[in-house]
Amino acid sequence: MTRTARSDGSNLSTQQLDALRTKVNGKVVVKGETPNEEYRPLIERWNRLHVKESNIIVLPESEDDISTTIKFVAEHNLDVTISCGRHTYSGPSSGFGLVIDMRNMRKVTVDAEKKTAKAQGGCIAGDVEKAAESVGLRAVMGAVNATGVGGITTGGGVSNLSGQYGLVADNVVEARVALADGRIVVASETENPDLFWGIRGGGSNFGLVTEFTYKLHECDHEVYGGFLMFSPDKTAKVISMLSTLHSDSIMKSNGKFAATAFFGSMGGVLMPGFMVYYDGPEDEAKKWAKPLFDLEPLTPPSHCGMSPHTATTDWAQFEKLFPPQFNRILGTSTQMDYPIDEAVMTKAVNLYNEVISRHPENLAVSKLIIDLRDYSKIASVPLDATAYANRREGMLIAADFIWDDPALDEEVTAAAKDWMGKVRAMIKESNSQKGIADVGAHVAATTLYALITDGEEKLQAVFGPNLLKMKQVKAKYDPNMMWNKWYPVEPESTS
Ligand SMILES: Cc1cc2nc3c(=O)[nH]c(=O)nc-3n(C[C@H](O)[C@H](O)[C@H](O)COP(=O)(O)OP(=O)(O)OC[C@H]3O[C@@H](n4cnc5c(N)ncnc54)[C@H](O)[C@@H]3O)c2cc1C
Repeated sequence: MTRTARSDGSNLSTQQLDALRTKVNGKVVVKGETPNEEYRPLIERWNRLHVKESNIIVLPESEDDISTTIKFVAEHNLDVTISCGRHTYSGPSSGFGLVIDMRNMRKVTVDAEKKTAKAQGGCIAGDVEKAAESVGLRAVMGAVNATGVGGITTGGGVSNLSGQYGLVADNVVEARVALADGRIVVASETENPDLFWGIRGGGSNFGLVTEFTYKLHECDHEVYGGFLMFSPDKTAKVISMLSTLHSDSIMKSNGKFAATAFFGSMGGVLMPGFMVYYDGPEDEAKKWAKPLFDLEPLTPPSHCGMSPHTATTDWAQFEKLFPPQFNRILGTSTQMDYPIDEAVMTKAVNLYNEVISRHPENLAVSKLIIDLRDYSKIASVPLDATAYANRREGMLIAADFIWDDPALDEEVTAAAKDWMGKVRAMIKESNSQKGIADVGAHVAATTLYALITDGEEKLQAVFGPNLLKMKQVKAKYDPNMMWNKWYPVEPESTS
């Protein structure tokens, strides 16, 4: 099926735009008409590589506003984009046409008795975490509070709490979804279950989620978190402890201990380090993290300690590490089976360093992230239970190439993709030597973390064995591909 070309809205008359304005309570912002000081901040993104000058931005205040806007989009065959926390890597929340920007819909209602939270589709993770924490509960969200619930939930969402409670998407019990014809429907195990299946890992393929209902979890204690940095000469030791840290600490902690290794460029020199998280008391945390402290970090012990869970996700503490001019980002990821191949990992780090060293000052805050956590809970959910297709135990390797100068866009983007291609080829070769074949229930899962990609992966790599069902659900809920920004699948009818 070929997609019908959609208009970017630049041809709409003032009367047509006024007709939208009179029906919508929220703001309707129009490029060239709305003053720049109001317009510009609205198109800003965490990743400046994807700033696009949208012709129309609607900031809905209610489901009615959303419904009306979608009907307007359908009537004028407009290109439409949904945006929430604007923290995507690959830019599917930026568009030249009409953007439905959910930032003014951030209400959270907690039911402490039922242990659920209803969060409007424009919330950021921190909104839900704080509301839950205020009544002694907690929500499963990502590692930082600034990411939007819209992207992280519909894309899957891995959290420091995932070892115990699964993905962010696994904690959704119900959602309200605005469809391509403007209707708002409920999606749950009992109502529109195919839509409910699709919005948990299928991204924005099926509609705009106006509200998520999340399961919350008891929390009556503080948690342990922080980071440790090591001198560059400890790189080999850090790599060689990854598998044992996973088997001897992470997998023995009942999903409570997670460690994210990183190789961070400090002005062009790669420094190894770890972010640690433990959902329990300090003495236990220190037991699990002992191999790291034994490696004699440069950072003082005060960099790790007890705090409320929400303090560990506070984006402000991470943001300090990224001066504002470093705002062009290419993120890419893959996965390696345990026990990891140290030779391949070492080569991956060296090749990454090689790219960074070409422009040490421009790529000064780039980082290579190695995520170690217990995936058993995530992998315990059958692969076909939701659209999310990466329920595979393994070590996530995610590279952030972060630079400042727009003149380097093409070069760094190409180098980052080349790096990822080489790493994937090395992993494939290593797997074949180890006899890990690309068949079977475990390996049928994808090895891609689709929320950290350049947006150009093949659909098969993103949705794996769930791709066919994705296409069938698409045919039912969005046959004309109104929602076509994040790995859009072509509709395929079952008849
Ligand atoms: C600093 C940082 C830290 C991160 N940490 C983690 C982490 O710990 N774990 C993890 O899993 N991921 C993590 N990510 C990845 C993050 O989850 C994704 O980038 C996610 O897409 C961001 O969501 P957003 O709403 O902020 O983005 P946006 O750019 O606003 O949207 C992303 C996508 O979601 C769609 N969308 C947004 N709102 C809705 C909605 N209401 N209904 C339907 N579709 C919608 C958009 O159309 C777009 O396709 C991190 C990203 C960053 C930048």
